[in-house]
Amino acid sequence: MSGIPRLRAGDRLVLASHNAGKLAEFRELFAPFGLELISAAQLDLPEPDETGTTFAENARIKAHAAASAANMLALSDDSGMCVDALGGDPGVYTANWAGPNRDFNHGMKRVEDALQAANATTPAQRHGSFRATLCLAHPDGRDALYEGRIDGTLVWPPRGDVGFGFDPVFMPEGFDVTFGEMPSRVKHGWAPGQEGLSHRARAFAKFVEGQIEQA
Ligand code: IMP
Repeated sequence: MSGIPRLRAGDRLVLASHNAGKLAEFRELFAPFGLELISAAQLDLPEPDETGTTFAENARIKAHAAASAANMLALSDDSGMCVDALGGDPGVYTANWAGPNRDFNHGMKRVEDALQAANATTPAQRHGSFRATLCLAHPDGRDALYEGRIDGTLVWPPRGDVGFGFDPVFMPEGFDVTFGEMPSRVKHGWAPGQEGLSHRARAFAKFVEGQIEQA
């Protein structure tokens, strides 16, 4: 229990992210609920430094910064890809592996080079997961965290051009296509009452359960 009153249709919420890919996914996920979503960019909110060492810490930093700057409820997402053969890297530093210009072709190649250096060639050796932690923060300091995870295999070369970030190299368990080859509704694998497929959709499903009043 967060202590934050449950959200209902018509309530306003700022999405504490400047990542266009995440925003597009959240807009789709939120569509059934009639909440008014405002992006951090619309409010010209600054992007805080992500100084945490866990997804939860960074999700809290982003949500609280937005909630207090906008003086309204804020939802953040901190996420990344954790590769077993790389000791969990790039993890919370996933965006950084794409370099200062957020060049994801460069980021995916960097992961692949590290996998080759670790001699990780079989699917079992190339196991990884996407993780997401969502934080809902109230301007008064209350918050709630929701986590989601999807396991899969890192493929090379990248496949597909839908989605964003590292989607083209991640093939979720039980599929023979990557996130980069899936329409977003398949990547979400979610509708009200369901568990979801992607890390973000699975965390969102818990957020809905815990925080949204449904008619
Ligand atoms: P951050 O949460 O802003 O620190 O950035 C997380 C980074 O992880 C993003 O920039 C993406 O590169 C990557 N990432 C997180 N979720 C996804 C996803 O659903 N697909 C592909 N890449 C993702």
